[in-house]
Amino acid sequence: MEQSSLYVVATPIGNLADITLRALDVLKRCDVIAAEDTRNALHLLKHHGIDTRVISLHEHNERTAAYKLVDLLAQGKSIALITDAGTPAISDPGALAVCAVREAGYPVVPIPGANAAICALSAAGITAPHFLFYGFLPQQAAARKRELEALKASPYLLVFYEAPHRVAASIAAMAEVLGDRTVTIARELTKLFETMHRCALGEAAAWFEADANQLKGEFVLLVEGAPTAAAPDAVALTHVLEVLMRELSLKQAVKLATELTGARKNDVYELALALGKGA
Ligand code: SAM
Repeated sequence: MEQSSLYVVATPIGNLADITLRALDVLKRCDVIAAEDTRNALHLLKHHGIDTRVISLHEHNERTAAYKLVDLLAQGKSIALITDAGTPAISDPGALAVCAVREAGYPVVPIPGANAAICALSAAGITAPHFLFYGFLPQQAAARKRELEALKASPYLLVFYEAPHRVAASIAAMAEVLGDRTVTIARELTKLFETMHRCALGEAAAWFEADANQLKGEFVLLVEGAPTAAAPDAVALTHVLEVLMRELSLKQAVKLATELTGARKNDVYELALALGKGA
């Protein structure tokens, strides 16, 4: 353990065993643990036989708590920062405190571990190569709709966090704004009632109605990105153009090939010119 350092420590998102050896070591050996909810922290610490002193750092006191952390670091103390679940500063408090500590010139050391979004993505079997992590949508309906409108054109898989009392309304808003895309509902990950269900956004309400228990717990929602026009296969496009150009003028062939393949007109035109020249 380095003196005067802030360790940002990921804790479990459900199963208390999902914590790294390094995280346990830091929590055991640091001077102070700054925790989002001290009762939650004590539950975790007790489970792992750790009795380090705990102070509070949450959304509503983060600015003043950050000064306190800097003060403790100035006294040479080492501090671990934890939140109720997963990785601090990810849809959680932590970023303000880390910023204050960095500005004061003290080292900040990440101790990686659980994160609900990554946990859901790892087991969802979604082959999309990219995703956009959004976190919580606004609670208010109009603001939520505005945000979804802004996300609508994104080709990337959208990753949302949601609370049980808002999940149905959020999914309904997604269906309305984004259209009937596929959603993977990842619920209660690493816990007793862990569930992963994939359906169309428009079918989710019926799934929840069929078993109200599915509305309980914590949710990650993985929503398909906007459909992108697939680039037509170059070989197929060339073949279509060659056939059409045997019977039609270049202009007519380009028009029809564009319609048939969905390729960009300029690309089809250039290919037609090249074919016409015997390229
Ligand atoms: N910092 C955390 C992380 O690294 O994932 C996220 C904290 S955020 C305040 C809490 C939200 O994360 C929940 O409302 C839920 O959307 C998601 N979440 C946390 N634990 C989860 C779990 N076990 N299963 C599904 N979602 C979970």
